[in-house]
Amino acid sequence: MTSQDSKIIYVESCPICGDGLCRIRICISNQKVTGFILCDECEAMWTDPLMQERVPTNVDETDPQCPSCSQSIWGKNMHWANIGEICLLGWFDHVQMVDE
Ligand SMILES: [Zn+2]
Ligand SMILES: [Zn+2]
Repeated sequence: MTSQDSKIIYVESCPICGDGLCRIRICISNQKVTGFILCDECEAMWTDPLMQERVPTNVDETDPQCPSCSQSIWGKNMHWANIGEICLLGWFDHVQMVDE
């Protein structure tokens, strides 16, 4: 384990709930890697690291879905992005890190 693994990587505090961190969620589906921004508290989602494109979510929805493939964001194809994946997405300039 490197020290990187104990860091939480996030874009900014959540503007919706004020409590959560907007983190980068990776979806691997059909060998395609997609990234999106997900608040770890209220599950608000954005498709871009500038957080301008918010994904509309149904308030009643108990199982939010990936904006790209519509599978559950907590499903087996999803995980929090590591630094390598964030570089791959070209989003590195948008993130900051805190100790877990
Ligand atoms: Zn939130
Ligand atoms: Zn997906």
